[in-house]
Amino acid sequence: MFKWLGILTDSNEKEIKRLEPVVAQINSLDPDFQRLSDAELRAKTDELKARLKDGETLDELLPEAFAAVREAAKRTIGQRPFDVQLMGGIVLHQGKIAEMKTGEGKTLVATLPLYLNALTGEGCHLVTVNDYLARRDAYWMGPIYHALGMSVASIYPQQNPDEHLPARLYDPDYTDEQDSRWPHFKPITRRQAYEADITYGTNNEFGFDYLRDNMALDLSQYVQHPLNYAIVDEVDNILIDEARTPLIISGAAEEATQKYYTFARLVPQLKRDEDYTIEERERQVYLTEPGMAKMERSLHQEGLLKAPSLYDPANYGLNRYMENALKAQVLFKRDRDYVVKDGQVLIVDEFTGRLMFGRRYSEGLHQSIEAKERVKIQRESVTLATITFQNYFRLYQKLAGMTGTAATEAEELYKIYKLDVAVIPTNKPMIRIDNPDQIYKDEDAKFKAVAKEIENLHKQGSPVLIGTVSIEKSEHLSDLLKRKGVPHQILNAKNHTGEADIIAQAGKVGAVTVATNMAGRGVDIILGGNPAERDEKDWQEEHDRVVEFGGLHVLGTERHEARRIDNQLRGRSGRQGDPGGSRFYVSLEDDVVHRFGGDRVKGFMDWAGFDENTPIEHSMVSKAIENAQVKVEGYHFDVRKHLVDYDDVVNKHREVIYAERKKILSGADLKANILSMVRDEIEGLVAARCSDDLVAPDYAGLLEDAAAVFPLPPELNPNTISQMKPKQITDKLVDYAEQSYEHREKEVGAENTRLLERLVMLRTIDSLWKDHLTAMDELRQRAGLYAVRQVDPLVVYKKEGHAYFDSLLASIQHDVANTIYKVSITKKEAPAQRQAQKVAVPAGRKVGRNDPCPCGSGKKYKHCCGR
Ligand code: ADP
Ligand code: MG
Repeated sequence: MFKWLGILTDSNEKEIKRLEPVVAQINSLDPDFQRLSDAELRAKTDELKARLKDGETLDELLPEAFAAVREAAKRTIGQRPFDVQLMGGIVLHQGKIAEMKTGEGKTLVATLPLYLNALTGEGCHLVTVNDYLARRDAYWMGPIYHALGMSVASIYPQQNPDEHLPARLYDPDYTDEQDSRWPHFKPITRRQAYEADITYGTNNEFGFDYLRDNMALDLSQYVQHPLNYAIVDEVDNILIDEARTPLIISGAAEEATQKYYTFARLVPQLKRDEDYTIEERERQVYLTEPGMAKMERSLHQEGLLKAPSLYDPANYGLNRYMENALKAQVLFKRDRDYVVKDGQVLIVDEFTGRLMFGRRYSEGLHQSIEAKERVKIQRESVTLATITFQNYFRLYQKLAGMTGTAATEAEELYKIYKLDVAVIPTNKPMIRIDNPDQIYKDEDAKFKAVAKEIENLHKQGSPVLIGTVSIEKSEHLSDLLKRKGVPHQILNAKNHTGEADIIAQAGKVGAVTVATNMAGRGVDIILGGNPAERDEKDWQEEHDRVVEFGGLHVLGTERHEARRIDNQLRGRSGRQGDPGGSRFYVSLEDDVVHRFGGDRVKGFMDWAGFDENTPIEHSMVSKAIENAQVKVEGYHFDVRKHLVDYDDVVNKHREVIYAERKKILSGADLKANILSMVRDEIEGLVAARCSDDLVAPDYAGLLEDAAAVFPLPPELNPNTISQMKPKQITDKLVDYAEQSYEHREKEVGAENTRLLERLVMLRTIDSLWKDHLTAMDELRQRAGLYAVRQVDPLVVYKKEGHAYFDSLLASIQHDVANTIYKVSITKKEAPAQRQAQKVAVPAGRKVGRNDPCPCGSGKKYKHCCGR
């Protein structure tokens, strides 16, 4: 049985074995590199760069590059990469995912391949999960790069009102007296940050910069270079957890909010199973035929129906309201999926349990929930640009990732990103003890037991880290602890910097830290607390005491839907061969157990003779729960795969449009292009009005149509053209159109004409592209309805999406041809640029009326673009 298991581990072992000779080679270079002076070490970079130019490959340079980084790291930050860290570095260079346990020093590992790949001068990116880590890691590793003559920068989201698109360069010659944490971080522009050899930043900022670049009206506004090489830290979090919500840049739109309220009023009349059915696991709800008929009747009474059938194209928009209203009504539960606070609907993050201020469900669902809760509907926004993380990260020439937990998701990472996972052994053997789950009948009994255990451990002096699935549960536990008089800290992944400081001390004697799952991620928990700025002897004593108590104890208060998240929590203990322990507490009321564990868990419990207060601890139950998790993981994978399948359709469109824009900005010859659009347009007009197979050609109508495109010469009249064949008419009109174009060009000047060409093309493309995105959104909603009729929605979406795209291209041609003769240049400042900025607000963060305007003017939003 389980033969394949052996094969899997074998292949990983073989892979690791293959790295050993390379590691040995790096080790053998050690003595030579130790002898180098600082200046000589620095000069290695120029030497390696020169050899790369002369034809040596990065693979050939790897051993020396790694030896150089190792020596620089030892001299600057006092950490000499271990052999296993070199292995991790090689795997990252190969464009794979390195699974390395928490505390193995992945931050340092990344410097090896980043340095090597930066030798090409094409820029390398390191992607972090939050703003704190984007700065900390660049700054922490800064001295290593600096010693080797490589520049390193950091980009991160806006932290204060004065600074739009913040970026910093690590520069020891610069000192900011105000900043005690990171004094040598010199403010620079985003563009400069991308010009650095190595750029650290959050996934959102990299993605938004990409989208913003592709909305720019001038090449000089571009900040990114072609995307070369990226290492994604905590890669499972970014490529899997975050991948469910795309990045969106949106602007405000006019919207008939009344419709949302109407639908919210109508939908509660529908009855479950009769009018609609719920697919609990997929979180989908479908109208039945009778339900549909009922809605049609109600909508007819409301005067909203434009044609009798909801399927009728005339009613397209309505489907979206209906589906969303229904979802909002039956699938989205207040205080579980969202909360209502100060008249706003706030999403609850299912991973961290915290409230996601400013984030909104997309495609009208948020508005529908607002209508259901009868709060004010926030203005709907239009998508100006959007991309999923999947498709953003696929843009890199080479992609790599690192994390403590990837192996369980290896299949997905391979199928979607073509990323292989290599499991790197730990530096020292792992000795943490993972205790079997304890299963309680209900939540109450479970939390009481957890609180009791915390109290015991705390009294004994052991540090404890408790993981919860939501803020509410953290608070509940906090209440229990307060009653017991146990001092503790709560983290909920809100203020990354402040929480980093707290978690850094979570290994102190008797420390009790309650954290929602992701809180404090990326920060090392050292037994005895953070040794920085501590008396060494004092710290050592505390450290030894904690080791004696058995290290850090991790208690999980619920099994998450994915095993990976549980493993992350466990992994906070037992770093670098530390002692430690972990245990999960489960109750039959927990989501995973009760939604997916099904009868197997319960059956077992009955068999075991379950009583109220004694927990059950049995590997069979743990196994059953794990099986449930595997099921849920599979389901979520399907959902994400689905998202990608759909996004792939739009992605092809995006590639074409963005490439076209870029060509325009790079000064492509637009004149020939535009004139050919005009010709096509004229051909179309001639065909419509007087093609040979028409009974009665309409010459006057044709001239009217043509005059709407370009100024017609007076000598052209219906009589003169009625003598000609359609082909001749076309040629004649095209001739005039071209003459008229040349004439205008002489009038306004060649340079201005080029500018106008560019502006008209860009404005037309941007505005129609935006409409296209909205239309594709709606198409997707509509395609979903086909599932009821046993037709694969994706097939419908692809087919119709293709037609939409063709019609987008046709519209661009039509609009350009119909605008180009009508625009002119006036003295006023070109309004185009301002217009684009006005709406370029990342949807992730809503701009308040009193916030600084995101256009960077320095004015308040309400006085600037938000007017
Ligand atoms: P990870 O990201 O893998 O969880 P970190 O990069 O946060 O790990 O590093 C964990 C700890 O290990 C840090 O305190 C770091 O200073 C330390 N560390 C990493 N590599 C080394 C090394 N080669 N020598 C000494 N300490 C190291
Ligand atoms: Mg880390």
